[in-house]
Amino acid sequence: MHGVTSARHIMGRHKQRKPRRPRRESDQQAKEWFGTAFHSSEGMQHLDVRQSGNGVLITSSPAEIDGAPASWALRLRNDDDGQGLNDLGAALAAGRGHVQVVSEGPGHRTVLAFMPNHPEEGVGTLARVRTDGGPEGDVVFERSAERPMGLWAEAGEGLLRIVPLLDPDAPPADELEDCQLCPGCYRPVYESSSSHTLIGAGPMPVIGLCRLCAEGATLRSLRQADVPIDPQQLAVLETVAAALV
Ligand SMILES: [Zn+2]
Repeated sequence: MHGVTSARHIMGRHKQRKPRRPRRESDQQAKEWFGTAFHSSEGMQHLDVRQSGNGVLITSSPAEIDGAPASWALRLRNDDDGQGLNDLGAALAAGRGHVQVVSEGPGHRTVLAFMPNHPEEGVGTLARVRTDGGPEGDVVFERSAERPMGLWAEAGEGLLRIVPLLDPDAPPADELEDCQLCPGCYRPVYESSSSHTLIGAGPMPVIGLCRLCAEGATLRSLRQADVPIDPQQLAVLETVAAALV
């Protein structure tokens, strides 16, 4: 990856909290991992790793897609008895750089790259990077997510735990699972992690909260960590808090 520069912005010093560990209540939950970093300037940063078809789905929210803020659902198939997934999981867990080719053709190449430990910042970036026209050609960060190294390490451990549970005979999941962003924290909420909470009596209807927001845990964490929050998210969380009283 020498010579590649990312468009990432420089962040200030940040506090971070230990990512949450998932509660394991069922077989499905054994195949999921979720963590959040509370960043002093970037706010909440989520990572979700889960089984999908015969492989794994890694969702980063927020992330950048073609330079714009978005949520990035990265599907990784398992066509080699888990070797590729284990390599990625081990690199994330160890905080080690990693590059794997996603697609290649005449004059272009797309890779998935993990770039650990940007100087001073203690963060690493996972990115899908396309190069056109050989070594001197354009380098485009199609998708990227920047997170504290500790959160990547936990995601890597989660991935390594999930890989042996994958069913190699499961059909590859070609359709993306239905994922909504929780209105309180923008965590990606899949069917299995949804709280199905609906609060309709307050000033605004609130649908599709994740469990942590529905239980008031997100607001408590935000207040303790003193991190910035989007005013819309705060309005949702305060509506929930009022309903919980
Ligand atoms: Zn939430």
